[in-house]
Amino acid sequence: MSLFHSVPPHRHGVTTNEWEPGAEPLPGLIEQAHAAGLRCAALYNWEPLRNISRLGTLDFAYFRNGAETDADSDHLIAREATRYLADARPDFAFVYFGTVDTAGHTFGWMSAAYLDQLAYVDQALGIVLDALPPDATVLVQSDHGGHDYNHGTDVAEDMTIPWMIAGPTIRQGYDMQIEVSLLDTAPTLARILNVPIPAHWEGRCAEEIFA
Ligand SMILES: [Zn+2]
Repeated sequence: MSLFHSVPPHRHGVTTNEWEPGAEPLPGLIEQAHAAGLRCAALYNWEPLRNISRLGTLDFAYFRNGAETDADSDHLIAREATRYLADARPDFAFVYFGTVDTAGHTFGWMSAAYLDQLAYVDQALGIVLDALPPDATVLVQSDHGGHDYNHGTDVAEDMTIPWMIAGPTIRQGYDMQIEVSLLDTAPTLARILNVPIPAHWEGRCAEEIFA
């Protein structure tokens, strides 16, 4: 929720996986893109993510349960993403792979079995990348790290994430100098999508990535 709404938990109010829509959260990236006339999609295998956007803002949603129960689940998401992206050419698509988190909870973060699952999910990502048009911009990131068998503390292993982006307007082979936060994802993608950045968003566009 922080990633899509560019505000920390005390502002969007979602602090557990059991959150249910009540008070509407502040508008996020998908609301902004939809209001600008863009077509948005979300494909995911972990059901709480159904709440990352408001009713009426997605043109396509695909949920197939499996992040916690089926180690092959991310490949099913990749296959559907490949079919949908080629067929519909949306302006923005969120593709979520959930099994690495489950492998961390089951086998331990950075264990051999965890890294095996990560490699398998990297193949799923490759399937999606191969299906994208050459002018697509792609941001790959996680929403948290982990240590031992869990996450949710303030230690560096939990708080540090990969954040990688490529596309026609993005610098190539460049290591970012400024720390990026979950809150920076929505403003950065809003700039790329050319949609307005709401005044209440707390993150910043990662300007240094642009060529
Ligand atoms: Zn987890």
